[in-house]
Amino acid sequence: MRTKIVAGNWKMNNDKDATKSLLKDLKKSVNNLPLKNTRVIVAPTFVNLSSAIKRTKKTEIEVVAQNMHQAKNGAFTGEISAEMLKSIGVETVILGHSERRTLFGETDAILAEKVDTALGNKMEIIFCFGELLADRKSENHFKVVESQLKKALFHLEAAAFKNIVLAYEPVWAIGTGETASPEQAQEMHAFIRKVLAEKYNQNTALAVSILYGGSVKPANAEEIFSKPDVDGGLIGGAALKAEDFTAIIKAI
Ligand code: PGA
Repeated sequence: MRTKIVAGNWKMNNDKDATKSLLKDLKKSVNNLPLKNTRVIVAPTFVNLSSAIKRTKKTEIEVVAQNMHQAKNGAFTGEISAEMLKSIGVETVILGHSERRTLFGETDAILAEKVDTALGNKMEIIFCFGELLADRKSENHFKVVESQLKKALFHLEAAAFKNIVLAYEPVWAIGTGETASPEQAQEMHAFIRKVLAEKYNQNTALAVSILYGGSVKPANAEEIFSKPDVDGGLIGGAALKAEDFTAIIKAI
């Protein structure tokens, strides 16, 4: 059975006090849930990772990073390395989020390097990808998604996918209030498994958790999560309120 995951990507939100208070509320609500085979993840900003890790010790909540640099160390002003994350207890990193790709110029080639660095440091990756609205309109969405996977991940051995969670996030659905329909999500997730099975094998394709992201909220989570190839969600806006995030966890 695949692991289910509900992950909250806080993006550039929540200062020190807001991080403390959201985690306090989440701890209360999440610790009472029967989380069978389900992981609950939050991704605060870099500056709040250490405190978030301390605050979630002995809870079901895992703390992960939103990004990292591919180099080991050196003259990269403003950047954070895998080793630094590991040294404070971060075991998982989100890579390839559409905001990193579009606003910060992260290409498939850069992401392939980041993937190697993360895996080389024995970190788990939540790897994000997804098509633009123009790609979907021109019916190129399958081609685009396949290419993103190939360029950033397909140099890996099948065994590496034990440490990778995939997050399909159609860019037109991120922060827009527009969600892919449960059928559109299912169709793409099944396609992703097919591509993985062709490149690797059926076992690898069936074992990897594939999350959907893009305007998931309490009102639509249950229907999206009910699809057989959707193993959970990567949640942005709705992860900033304990009540909403908890409702989404319950939906799984
Ligand atoms: P959203 O963001 O839930 O606010 O659409 C999702 C994401 O960017 O991961």
